[in-house]
Amino acid sequence: MDDFLIIGGGIAGTSAGARLAQFCTVTLLEAETALGYHASGRSAALYEPNYGPAAIRALSHASADEFHASGLLTPRGMLFVGKAGDEDTLARHIAEFELEPLSPAEATRLLPVLDPDRVTCAGHHEAAWDVDTDLMIQRYARALRQNGQIVTGARVDAIRRTATGWEVTAKGATYAARVLVNAAGAWADEIAKAAGIAPLGLIPKRRSMARVAAPEGHDPRSWPMTLGAGEAWYMKPDAGALLISPADATPCDPHDAWADDMTLAEGIAGWEEHVTTPVARMLANWAGLRTFASDGEPVIGPAPADPAFLWCAGQGGYGFQSAPAASRLLADLAAGRAPELDPAVIAAVSPARFA
Ligand SMILES: Cc1cc2nc3c(=O)[nH]c(=O)nc-3n(C[C@H](O)[C@H](O)[C@H](O)COP(=O)(O)OP(=O)(O)OC[C@H]3O[C@@H](n4cnc5c(N)ncnc54)[C@H](O)[C@@H]3O)c2cc1C
Repeated sequence: MDDFLIIGGGIAGTSAGARLAQFCTVTLLEAETALGYHASGRSAALYEPNYGPAAIRALSHASADEFHASGLLTPRGMLFVGKAGDEDTLARHIAEFELEPLSPAEATRLLPVLDPDRVTCAGHHEAAWDVDTDLMIQRYARALRQNGQIVTGARVDAIRRTATGWEVTAKGATYAARVLVNAAGAWADEIAKAAGIAPLGLIPKRRSMARVAAPEGHDPRSWPMTLGAGEAWYMKPDAGALLISPADATPCDPHDAWADDMTLAEGIAGWEEHVTTPVARMLANWAGLRTFASDGEPVIGPAPADPAFLWCAGQGGYGFQSAPAASRLLADLAAGRAPELDPAVIAAVSPARFA
């Protein structure tokens, strides 16, 4: 019998597994044939510690030392832009993200395709980075394997509570462990139900992404991530092309998400309204599910009804930027160690807040 059995091989499950394997044996079961197939393989891969609700921001800031020492970050910067009428919204973004207000001319120096006739307000800061998310997951997976195993293609189809822990079946095999970690992303409530634990009302929300060719004659590699007022759309340079998202958040059931053409078109139109260069060609598109609890904060820690069931879910749109500190918190709680975080943050992410 293992000490811990983790369901879910995205960033949540692999990072939790890496921490737990430092002091216990771990098995991670992933339904798909590869790690990071769902939300974790479809993100914008940004580390912006001022993004998200309060506890997420606290976890993201608490992740800074590990990120900056990791070699996983590349400077990106973040730019908000608005048109006439967007000034109040821009002022809110500038305060929230601690941006420097910019004139349209200054913003155009950072993003040469901006249309200075239409963009009237902007704010920018350097403190946002691209994350090598594939390498991040692979590193955590390697650390997990130091004291455990990862089984892919292993969809958990039954979970049984025993006197000493849990028995889980997947791919015809049975796995036993003392403690179950629910890191199943959009499926986390379904896993809870299968384990006899009350679901939390987690809501998966679809977010779509188009990868389009960079405007002719431009090299976008040094452009900042750029967002429209009210986060109505965003653009992020991606290996010589552009990612453009309509920043949609459409509630849905857990599934292998795909992008809706009309929704993608809205995002592209939002971008085109602020620049001088229309989008000429779509290279690819996809969607992923960002899964939220009702208060927008993640759910990390033991279920009040059964301390042998650990939640590691509800990371919303911030699962990478918060993972270093979130996984440390989970392991500290599992090991009975005092976490380094402010107790208010621990309470804000605790499953006990829904009891
Ligand atoms: C378009 C988009 C942009 C984003 N941008 C960012 C960003 O810039 N920065 C950031 O920090 N975050 C971002 N996010 C959010 C981030 O991607 C998520 O918060 C994170 O990936 C969630 O990780 P996870 O491990 O909880 O979920 P997932 O990656 O979905 O992993 C859950 C896993 O559980 C597995 N599973 C489910 N049921 C079972 C079962 N019965 N048996 C076995 N396995 C099972 C699934 O197959 C899945 O692989 C973005 C998300 C999207 C969609």
